[in-house]
Amino acid sequence: MFELPSLPYGMNALEPYISEKTMEFHYGKHHRAYVDNLNKLIRDTEFENMSLEDIVKNTADRKEFAGIFNNAAQAWNHAFFWKCMQKNGGGAPQGELLKKIEKDFGSYEKFREEFKTAATTQFGSGWAWLAEKNGKLSVIKTSNADTPLAHGYKPLITIDVWEHAYYLDYQNRRPDFVDAFLDHLVNWN
Ligand code: MN
Repeated sequence: MFELPSLPYGMNALEPYISEKTMEFHYGKHHRAYVDNLNKLIRDTEFENMSLEDIVKNTADRKEFAGIFNNAAQAWNHAFFWKCMQKNGGGAPQGELLKKIEKDFGSYEKFREEFKTAATTQFGSGWAWLAEKNGKLSVIKTSNADTPLAHGYKPLITIDVWEHAYYLDYQNRRPDFVDAFLDHLVNWN
């Protein structure tokens, strides 16, 4: 049985960039539903006692387990997403990670542009990521519940670009939500 992980901050901590109302729905209803559905789907199956990461990896690309994958991946993605933000966050990272971004993207600004493009051009529901594979950083986007975790990447930062993540606060202005994430919320720690 999985439990909804507690938020690393209060429901109103990310205002005005993400409202308490959005958090009540996004964390309190959407994220909770993924965890509840997963628990129902894995009961009395081979996945019942696996870690969330192992369930994601072992159900990826297996049509017969699509329902379990979708809910497990969304449970993982959301738990990770909350940790990618903080009050008074935003801006470039420091130290080793900044050096690595400069090496692999040319500059923080180039990374920022690539990440924003991925987040705004993901068609329909999905996620944009900074992820690492074989020692190299890259920006990738995934559809629906899909996650780099299922493809051998180590996820470093993500933004949820499902409409439920921003519609109450930004309506159709997804680019403004992505700017707010990058400039005021992202938590590189
Ligand atoms: Mn979401």
